[in-house]
Amino acid sequence: MYKDQTYSLSEVFGSYVFNDVIMRERLPKPTYKALKKTIEEGISLNPQVAEVVANAMKDWAIEKGATHYTHWFQPMTGITAEKHDSFISPTSDGKVIMEFSGKELIKGEPDASSFPSGGLRVTFEARGYTAWDCTSPAFVKDSTLYIPTAFCSYTGEVLDKKTPLLRSMETISKEALRVLSVFGNTTSTKVVTTVGAEQEYFLVDKETYLKRKDIVYTGRTLFGAKPPKGQEMEDHYFGTLKERISLFMKELDQELWKLGVSAKTKHNEVAPAQHEIAPIFTTTNIATDHNQIIMDTLKKIALRHGLVCLLHEKPFAGVNGSGKHNNWSLSTNDGQNLLDPGTTPHENAQFLVFLCAVIKAVDDYADLIRASAANPGNDHRLGANEAPPAIISVFLGDQLTDILEQIENGGAKSCKQGGELKIGVSTLPDLPKDTTDRNRTSPFAFTGNKFEFRMVPSSASIAGPNFVLNTIVAEVLGQIADRLEKAKDRDLEVQLILKEIVTNHKRVIFNGNNYSDEWVEEATKRGLPNIRSTVEATKTIIDEKNLQLFEKHGIFTKHELHSRYEIILEHYIKTINIEALTTIEIAKRQILPSVIEFTSLVANSINSIKSTGIDVDISAQSEILTEVSSLLADLKKNIVLLEKSVLDASNSNDDTYDKALIYKDNVFVKMSQLRSVADKLETIVDDKLWPFPTYGELLFNI
Ligand code: ADP
Ligand code: MG
Repeated sequence: MYKDQTYSLSEVFGSYVFNDVIMRERLPKPTYKALKKTIEEGISLNPQVAEVVANAMKDWAIEKGATHYTHWFQPMTGITAEKHDSFISPTSDGKVIMEFSGKELIKGEPDASSFPSGGLRVTFEARGYTAWDCTSPAFVKDSTLYIPTAFCSYTGEVLDKKTPLLRSMETISKEALRVLSVFGNTTSTKVVTTVGAEQEYFLVDKETYLKRKDIVYTGRTLFGAKPPKGQEMEDHYFGTLKERISLFMKELDQELWKLGVSAKTKHNEVAPAQHEIAPIFTTTNIATDHNQIIMDTLKKIALRHGLVCLLHEKPFAGVNGSGKHNNWSLSTNDGQNLLDPGTTPHENAQFLVFLCAVIKAVDDYADLIRASAANPGNDHRLGANEAPPAIISVFLGDQLTDILEQIENGGAKSCKQGGELKIGVSTLPDLPKDTTDRNRTSPFAFTGNKFEFRMVPSSASIAGPNFVLNTIVAEVLGQIADRLEKAKDRDLEVQLILKEIVTNHKRVIFNGNNYSDEWVEEATKRGLPNIRSTVEATKTIIDEKNLQLFEKHGIFTKHELHSRYEIILEHYIKTINIEALTTIEIAKRQILPSVIEFTSLVANSINSIKSTGIDVDISAQSEILTEVSSLLADLKKNIVLLEKSVLDASNSNDDTYDKALIYKDNVFVKMSQLRSVADKLETIVDDKLWPFPTYGELLFNI
């Protein structure tokens, strides 16, 4: 029985992916070899080869039930886009044949005028093209062959999230190889960054969801009083899965396995109705595509079970929000994890160089890291009273911190584990790989053989955080390589570099509780930035030092970065604007009428009691009427204030940054003020009259 199951899983896994096994099976040997060379070494594909690949891909896809193909790309909206074309091609006798050419595989021309470009492209020359990214395999989903592609304008400007990611992977590979070569590595020809992204999400009942305009329009609740029970009992985390959820997860796994996504762990999260799924790590590019597939599949399968999957960072106030843990490491193409301490003095020295390169990069470019995790949803988490904080710091654990301290103090003192530590001469003590007491509050934690970046927004593409990480670490590795390549005594130079990095950047290392107020104070003393909002974080991407960084490594031109800055701010403005309009709509047309109905109910009760002429105590009714009426007036007043702030903001002639600030400091604030009055009313008004389902119903009715 057990055997049967494993057998069928291995049959199912990747069965809808045009992967290496299928390519080897279906492509003529020379074609396969040529394609492999393109995938592994980035050598451009010749048209004849593309023709053969396209034909084999089409035949395979048709066998899998595909009738269409699409160039699947990742515009700046953060989600994916696709335009489906069918394979059919008419013949002269009025029939059709199925066709798919090499040209169609390699290049597509979606009508791109409606994608955000931040002024890079004027609408009349809207055409952009998509180019096949053969490093991420094609797959069949919903009767369509999906071809992962990068998206550019005809003038070559980057319009998507994949292109900078691919460029950053090249850059970090180049710089890491330089460092490795100083350490005598002659076998590795490529270094890839690997990522495993844990995805958090909420599930709510679809019927209940449909009654909440706020979630429907904005992905989060804009109203809602705290239910009597929240997450305080901590009975949901890792709890047993309810049958409905468990059936959902089973189907989710199967669907993901078919698409070659190695969904591995699944469990309940801290908040009620919150869950997590994590795949096994893979190269950053594929991990990014897979995360998009995961988000998409979560939503699709949820609907099949009468559920709706919420990927928003903060669907419910007062309840834990959702994030993504971006586990990141570097690995050579011959399988060496460069953030794994290793066992020999030589490996240890190399490990410490890579470790310290990351530490320096994170300190030098904390602003960029922070910006890479910024979106309007995450503003409710980062910097609010919730995990993780907005201050970027690195958790290393006591042992590694101790080792770095020794390096700073000369490097030859005895370490905690006993013995002498001399870089390149002695070995590190065994570092615990997966200690249970490891810090869960750090935004950027070393977890044995990788870094876990825990600030990433749950709904966002992981491309941004990863091209930032790749680029900043590449920059520092490059600086280190410059020195090591010139050094006469390598070991001595390594020692000097490490010492320098520790001395200059230890301020970013913090092993304590990142949620505490003391840390905020301490971080200020250390001079670490604490950037609280998306608007402020976004400003940093156009700082001169950051423009130079991206330009130097060929990731973006200054012009492209400026356009991204505009796109992010415009997206922020639109998001808050939609939230504000939805708030007004619900307050005016749902809450106000219900509250008025309730007040007349109470008033009628007072009148009818009075009309009996019997002398009874009606102070309760009167008090309720007074309280509700005063809140009602307050609500009305707040609606007017919010309406005015939206009007002022949308009429403002300020530049995008200042306009975004108005939305943050005025519109958003007015929204919250209105909400707090409405939430108070929710706790007084008759349950039967409240116009939409409560937090309790949303969170506990599955
Ligand atoms: P936790 O919930 O304790 O953080 P999980 O086991 O849920 O840990 O997730 C760890 C993630 O890290 C998985 O996606 C795993 O594949 C990934 N991972 C493990 N090793 C590496 C590595 N070398 N590079 C990138 N990701 C890795
Ligand atoms: Mg984690």
